Amino acid sequence: MRKLVELKYELDKCVKCGTCRSVCPTFRVLGRETACARGKLTLIDAYSSGAIGLSDAYLKHLKECTLCGACRDTCPKGVDTVAIYNAARVDAVQKLGAPVAASLVFKNLLESSKVMDAALKIATRLQGLIFKDATAESGLLSRFSLPVIGKGRLLPPLAREFFLETSEARGLPAPAKTGKAKVAFYAGCGVNYLMPDVGKASIEILKKAGADVFVPSAQVCCGMPAFASGDAAMARQMALKNLEVFEAFDCDYITTSCATCGHGLKHMFADVLSDNPELSSRIEAFSAKVIDINALLVNVLKYRSGGKETGGKLVTYHDPCHLNRAQNVRNEPRELLKSNKNIAFKEMAFPCSCCGLGGGLSLTNYDLSIEITERKIESIRASGADIVATACPGCMVQLRDGLHKYGVNARVAHVVELI
Ligand code: SF4
Ligand code: SF4
Repeated sequence: MRKLVELKYELDKCVKCGTCRSVCPTFRVLGRETACARGKLTLIDAYSSGAIGLSDAYLKHLKECTLCGACRDTCPKGVDTVAIYNAARVDAVQKLGAPVAASLVFKNLLESSKVMDAALKIATRLQGLIFKDATAESGLLSRFSLPVIGKGRLLPPLAREFFLETSEARGLPAPAKTGKAKVAFYAGCGVNYLMPDVGKASIEILKKAGADVFVPSAQVCCGMPAFASGDAAMARQMALKNLEVFEAFDCDYITTSCATCGHGLKHMFADVLSDNPELSSRIEAFSAKVIDINALLVNVLKYRSGGKETGGKLVTYHDPCHLNRAQNVRNEPRELLKSNKNIAFKEMAFPCSCCGLGGGLSLTNYDLSIEITERKIESIRASGADIVATACPGCMVQLRDGLHKYGVNARVAHVVELI
């Protein structure tokens, strides 16, 4: 991937106009220059030229960002701000080392999912000791203050049966194509460990839509959490492993119901594996097959809902940054929702504003992260919706926490659960 020093030309494109301030969720909350792209780029430029060092203040400002990409999309000079932020985070980790706890989790997600699965199974059994059920929402509340998590935060329970263990996820690809397309499903950690029902609903809809769908069982984490934390070496290993796993199967498409995983599979692999030119044609072939499940259902499989009962009439939609901005998928989830005659769709104000989760912010600065969520929750409240649909398990976790925290009575669901 491009190193910080190689992005000097991108930094030099910034004319300090400040347009990016108007769309930045962290600037909206913090109201100071270092929270927005203009300030961050000035700091990164100063660091690159040696004027400042890797200070705690520099690192803090780097982390005060959801990597939502709104600044990049609005910048009149086309500065690739997100590429600069990623390179700066990777540079910092290369010089200071990755946090030990995060490295351990990523290492297990990559190398020995059985160890990780066993540890999470134990955690599943113990979660009742640490958390209590939140009655109004499907989630758990910590009974006392915990490192990183804090107290009173609504967290999704670990699944009793992980998605990759379910009968829905098992089964090899049909030897010959019998339906409209042969589709490999990528679950991702959110669906596998927290939301197996989203995975099951995805498989069911893909089958209904006429796809021959199968789930490669050796798949591992997509690498996006490691990449966002600056651990490009770990993300690289995860990308390579997934590339090998999916290359072993003959398929027309690789799809996922996670916006972040989809963005990672489609775009990040080329970035983190760019040091090996021999892989470029393989990555190109792999990335060309990756398509978000909403886009696959609408544009390829021509699926329309048969009128599923959703348990609520008025539905609004939150655009995940990694789907709307990163993959240009906006209309498809709306089309799917509107195709269900049992849904009355209502657009909320600012549907594309970031939910506050991204860039690791909810782990490194939960207070800022959940303050960003407040604006989104106000939009949901004002829409009057019974259900907030979205297409990313990460956004679902953040929205559920925000709805609980700010006292709004709406349910969060993935699009595939409503069509
Ligand atoms: S909008 Fe673009 S050019 Fe203007 S200050 Fe922000 S990053 Fe720089
Ligand atoms: S990526 Fe998003 S949060 Fe980060 S500086 Fe840009 S607009 Fe702000």
